Amino acid sequence: MTTRLSSKGRRAALAMSAALLATVALGGPAALAHGPDPLLGSGTRWARDQVVPYQWDPNGPPPAWAAAEIDAAADDIERTINSRAATFTRVASSGNRIYYGILVPCSSYGIACMDRSGAPDSFTGMWFRPHNYPFDWGTLKWCQAMATMANGCYDVENVALDEFGHMELLGHHVNYSDERDFSDSVVQFAARNRPKEGWNQHFLGRCDVARLQLEYSLQSSSDHVSTCLNLATTLAIGGPTSVATGGSARITGTLKIAVASAARELSGDNLSGRSVTLQRRALGSTSWSTVGTVPPSATAGTYGLTIAISSTADYRLVFDASVTEGLIDATSATLRITASSGCTAATGTTRKVQEQIVPPGC
Ligand SMILES: [Zn+2]
Repeated sequence: MTTRLSSKGRRAALAMSAALLATVALGGPAALAHGPDPLLGSGTRWARDQVVPYQWDPNGPPPAWAAAEIDAAADDIERTINSRAATFTRVASSGNRIYYGILVPCSSYGIACMDRSGAPDSFTGMWFRPHNYPFDWGTLKWCQAMATMANGCYDVENVALDEFGHMELLGHHVNYSDERDFSDSVVQFAARNRPKEGWNQHFLGRCDVARLQLEYSLQSSSDHVSTCLNLATTLAIGGPTSVATGGSARITGTLKIAVASAARELSGDNLSGRSVTLQRRALGSTSWSTVGTVPPSATAGTYGLTIAISSTADYRLVFDASVTEGLIDATSATLRITASSGCTAATGTTRKVQEQIVPPGC
């Protein structure tokens, strides 16, 4: 069930109670303050990378100043989803309509609203109330419709971005009570008007992106995970358990997001291009020392480093998560590599290259 969602109104006591009502009525999952945005209703997904078309409603096409801003919001979505969420593009002919005018199904206090019923095949509509519409709280002013922009007006692109966010499946972000995290989401119950902080934000916030990543996955295994998330990771180590003294060992690692239902579509996904280091602990020692950085290999999520083995020792890999993304550090299991006593490295070959010369005793 997806209902028409009133989305934008004046910041007022009214907004508080209506937000609560929306959360209950839409049945989205409980969301902690400052977590990823909740799902809107049942959160039916579009397909990954789906391109959703729209056209202006012939019965209420937006005026040019609004049309340009709505199209710009669709571009903002594509530029900042940082995931395989749907994108929106205007076409000559589509049953998915965007309307501007007085005949809207929005709540009595909403300046715009949308209805994504029909997803993933279509959506029902998106509606914007007109400039100078008289609400009981005052007269609606769209900033772009004003010859001289004045405080108290609403930014069309920002409001349209909220509506496209809903169209993806995002519910309103649950802010801290003092709203210090307001800019972490543009999908807000109440838009801020000019000149309040965030009134003209033209990109998705990190907690909008976090939900999109959870539902639609990353575009690439090397993409950054939103800092609005805090996901556990797993790091597996591979390599030989015995090497001739003086020989070499290829140590490999595989880094993934830990398998967990809370990680949704990201569960178990590969993580490429991260900072993985190899550590070594000598036999009988309790302390680890860093051998070096383990570079990424060609396969997604894999890393590898070849080292010389001079004595038996323990090895482990360490993933040090960047503060610029929402991942938790991981340490691999310990791999003991035994150096075969008395052996030296095989050097040289006969004319048949596969017949390696093996020193005595190995
Ligand atoms: Zn909204």
